[in-house]
Amino acid sequence: MSFASANVILKSGRDKSVRARHPRLFSGAIKHIEGRARDGDVVDVRDNNGEWLARGVINQLSAIAVRLMTWDEHEAVDDALWAARIRAAAVRRAVDPALAETDARRLVFGESDGLPGLIADQYAGHVVAEFSALCAVRRRDVILDALRALQGVEAAHEQLDVERLRAEFGNNPRLIAALRRPATAPESVLIREHGLTFNVNLSSGQKTGFYLDQRANRARVAAYCADKRVLNTFSYSGAFGVAAARAGAALVLNVDSSADALALAAENAALNGVAGRFVTQEADVFADLRARRAAGERFDVVILDPPKMAHNSGQIDKAARAYKDLNRLGFSLLDPGGVLATFSCSGVISAGLLQQIVFQAAREAGRDAVIVERLTQASDHPVLLSYPEGEYLKGFIIRVTN
Ligand code: SAH
Repeated sequence: MSFASANVILKSGRDKSVRARHPRLFSGAIKHIEGRARDGDVVDVRDNNGEWLARGVINQLSAIAVRLMTWDEHEAVDDALWAARIRAAAVRRAVDPALAETDARRLVFGESDGLPGLIADQYAGHVVAEFSALCAVRRRDVILDALRALQGVEAAHEQLDVERLRAEFGNNPRLIAALRRPATAPESVLIREHGLTFNVNLSSGQKTGFYLDQRANRARVAAYCADKRVLNTFSYSGAFGVAAARAGAALVLNVDSSADALALAAENAALNGVAGRFVTQEADVFADLRARRAAGERFDVVILDPPKMAHNSGQIDKAARAYKDLNRLGFSLLDPGGVLATFSCSGVISAGLLQQIVFQAAREAGRDAVIVERLTQASDHPVLLSYPEGEYLKGFIIRVTN
């Protein structure tokens, strides 16, 4: 029985990452290909001496030339493997005690679940599958069927990560346009998270609709907010703000540049009975924080949850300056004893680098501060040990001591 249509032979000395089960094989490691491999086909990967190493899906239009899916020579990379891995990923969530208090969870987190190019988020009875690589696009109907067959799932919808797919389809917009199918996701689904209710827009919201990765962090930050004046920046649908208000905040001011996001945030505040202590402001956060500093405003808690500022290592320096500016402004708005909850979702910015950036920001703001909690992405966004790049969200809860 043949499992693959071609053999990808690696250059001498370029087999280490494959042996270490890293799921991405970059094109620079390939010496040549034996046999005929069309993009999207399953291929075997062998070292320079012909020894079998792994099996995956080839795409020569991408810098990630092979998405590796098995290191077992007897395992086929086929529809059944995709379906089985989706079921296994869902079972891991079902037994996760951290997910007992919510009906919204990430069921599939790409390589971390052995499913490259696929994310699947469940919102009550609805699942949104997001495709970001050719290997997953090729199996989209199998994937959607497998998701629909999961317990508690009534409907599965699909979404394309167009930015990532560009790199997979040689920047050809026609090929990506050809992938589009009529949208089926509803505009409004109510979910429960730690006793809170949120309205999630699955058809035009950000990400697949909600920032599930911050679930545990919302609860952590909310614990500092009773009776406090809270400034929630980059608030999106107000999830941090609603959690803070329900934890007893005296007032939560939510700032975002998206009017649609703020409308959803106001709705979420009302759904949770906290609209009277919940204010929204449509503004650029950087300009808004400067204006508030100039006006001498002060808060007890400031939350900084900006969008991804560095998409690759070439953008680290520029992103570091933006994070530093933001954090300096955040520090300058805090009363003595105040709390800064600061995040970065840029995978290329490590927790160590974020800590240095925040330290510089505190120095420039003339504040002394201590880290009281270190935060990361929620447990339904697990980090595969052989793929540490899957860790992207990091944050600190910091208390200003002067
Ligand atoms: N904290 C949110 C997620 C934030 S996502 C949650 O837990 O759900 C980032 C948000 O920042 C988006 O809503 C986007 O509209 C907003 N945004 C991006 N750049 C901005 C800017 N310069 N000023 C204000 N908002 C901005």
